[in-house]
Amino acid sequence: MKEQILEGELWTAKKMGNNYIVSIKDQSSIVQALNDFVLKQNIKSGQVTGIGAVSEATLRFFDFSRKDYVDKKFDEQMEVTNISGNVSVAEGKLLLHLHITLGRQDYSAIAGHLQDAKIRGAGEFFFYPMEIPVFKTKNEEVGINLYDFEKSDEKA
Ligand code: FE
Repeated sequence: MKEQILEGELWTAKKMGNNYIVSIKDQSSIVQALNDFVLKQNIKSGQVTGIGAVSEATLRFFDFSRKDYVDKKFDEQMEVTNISGNVSVAEGKLLLHLHITLGRQDYSAIAGHLQDAKIRGAGEFFFYPMEIPVFKTKNEEVGINLYDFEKSDEKA
């Protein structure tokens, strides 16, 4: 299997075959680091999963009654018990969609759409890209980007 070591400003990575192991550098933004990673590696579809620890996080909740997002910031050290996400192309740009579950000091958990979080400790991610881009289009009725499997020609 072909192996390659890579480095960005906010991350280091090891490519093994078609997949990657990514380590986000301490005190870096998860969203900034992973967006930079998918852009540099030109990943246009696939899955990401991760664990680690953060010192702050902003979660987002989609309020259907208002078709709008509500953000809430948590300023505390927490365990990242899971990040699940995917990569697609929307409006000609790479779109990284991430959800997170965080464990607090009292062992309770909070969860939501990940707006951003700052790594404090480890940030360990696995990327499983796919060969062909997948697209999302904003559904005006629902108010969010949904998979558009008919689409196949848009440039990212
Ligand atoms: Fe979401």
